[in-house]
Amino acid sequence: MSDAASIRHTPAQKAVLAALQQHRQPLSAQVLHSAMRPQHSIGLATVYRSLDALQKSGLIQHRITLEGTTLYSLVRHDRHCMTCLHCGQSFPINTCPVADLEAQLQHSNQFKIYYHTLEFFGLCESCSVQNE
Ligand SMILES: [Zn+2]
Ligand SMILES: [Zn+2]
Repeated sequence: MSDAASIRHTPAQKAVLAALQQHRQPLSAQVLHSAMRPQHSIGLATVYRSLDALQKSGLIQHRITLEGTTLYSLVRHDRHCMTCLHCGQSFPINTCPVADLEAQLQHSNQFKIYYHTLEFFGLCESCSVQNE
């Protein structure tokens, strides 16, 4: 998995990411472009180029509607797991216990959250049996 913090984005790519995060729903490049226009003077071609680059870095995904419109949205990289300190195995947690917290943080702080990681450390079942 790539470390998102180490990825360098152009200002246009950052603006596209921020706009997608703000809308929280899939958007077409045209809608995205007009939504960004009040703050950013970015041409539609640059929006397309940024979308393409972001898609290649795995941050966004697209789907095509029945009408043939391409809609872009953020890929969520949320990860929740329990990791055993003894054998190193990770066990995924399939529900998100912090979805409400994330929404709350995003509201009360001027911080756009793209994804989160939640990891619990301890001993898995087979390792705790061995340790007894
Ligand atoms: Zn273990
Ligand atoms: Zn979560």
